[in-house]
Amino acid sequence: MKNIGILGSTGSIGTQTLEVVRNNKDIQVTALAAGSNIGLLERQIREFRPALACVWDEKKALELKGLVADLNVKIVSGMKGLMEAAAEPKAQTVVTAVVGMIGIRPTIAAMEAGKDIALANKETLVTAGHIIMPLAKKLGVRILPVDSEHSAIFQCLNGEGKGKIHKILLTASGGPFRGRTRQEMKDVQVEDALKHPNWSMGRKITIDSSTMVNKGLEVMEAKWLFDVTFDQIQVVVQPQSVIHSMVEFEDGAVMAQLGTPDMKLPIQYALYYPERRFLPGDRLDFGSMGQITFEPPDPENFRGLALAYEAGRRGGSLPVVFNAANEYAVSEFLNRRISYLEITDMIEEAMRAHQVIDAPDVEQILEAERQTRQLLAGISGKKAGR
Ligand code: NDP
Ligand code: MG
Repeated sequence: MKNIGILGSTGSIGTQTLEVVRNNKDIQVTALAAGSNIGLLERQIREFRPALACVWDEKKALELKGLVADLNVKIVSGMKGLMEAAAEPKAQTVVTAVVGMIGIRPTIAAMEAGKDIALANKETLVTAGHIIMPLAKKLGVRILPVDSEHSAIFQCLNGEGKGKIHKILLTASGGPFRGRTRQEMKDVQVEDALKHPNWSMGRKITIDSSTMVNKGLEVMEAKWLFDVTFDQIQVVVQPQSVIHSMVEFEDGAVMAQLGTPDMKLPIQYALYYPERRFLPGDRLDFGSMGQITFEPPDPENFRGLALAYEAGRRGGSLPVVFNAANEYAVSEFLNRRISYLEITDMIEEAMRAHQVIDAPDVEQILEAERQTRQLLAGISGKKAGR
């Protein structure tokens, strides 16, 4: 029996992780955490019987406590609770599936409690990779990628000697607006941006995929996970999302991992690594697939990708600002307070205004986040005449 905790259990990755648990009979869930969706969290608690559950929202946590009073489960809340859920003693692996850099502190708490991390929460690695990766090494815990591209790369590297990577070929679908110019994207509405051609995911990452910011975050995520330089990471648009990423080795051999777009595969792979298990679901049918096509990305019109490379190459606190500005702007866009193109404009504005700090610690990272949000709130307040 393997014990796991899931941070963000009510989300897209969280619920698919629980499907994997349901399909296999040898995983016990010992901790769950969500933001505010106590209806679903209660059902999850009744089905999976964790020892501990966290709800970010304190009022909702109290409500949940009443709802599950008949069960033997401890209910906690806030950041303290989230860190407690991350460090719940019985879990061996923690799936980090919260959205955003709020994941930094609980991820560190889980690692310090000796847990392996099945990492979906890329924003944590983008903003604090320089802390997370050395800490994992020091503590002897594993960071197992859940993001499909990084899982693909991880699978391609199986059995290969370290330091033999020539290049990582990070594939991208190109999102719903592939081929459009900035001018042609100026009237994009929330509903348009939420229609991803191949993957069904949470709202924030779906917007990130449409702007190519997601790919930018993934470039930085790959740098930390696989210890390569930015020059070694090439984004390749592969619109059918059949190839989940590739590795070119020193001798020119290219290994790729292919499959249907189903996040349960990388989730299950991370949970059972290095074992492979049966996974129900659609399989690739090469007889009817037709074509797999490739094209270069378009960083001129999709500024998010170019800005991500710039932030990643400069490093220090600049990736924090890139990510914090994006989190702020995407939330503003989803709340219909800014236009679509303002998302990348805001990222650029925040990056230009920032004085980079090298190797920021967690406090400095959170301070850079606060300052970025403050700056952008000031700018949008002025524009709206508030
Ligand atoms: P969702 O928005 O679907 O889910 C987010 C989860 O986090 C929900 O359970 C939510 O709870 C919870 N949450 C939000 N805020 C807090 C908080 N303050 N404290 C505790 N829990 C909180 O996101 P996704 O599942 O799509 O994405 C999760 C992460 O995985 C992101 O970093 C994303 O980039 C990454 N990822 C996702 C992929 C996908 O296919 N979805 C693919 C690759 C990576 P509630 O429901 O109560 O709001
Ligand atoms: Mg991905």
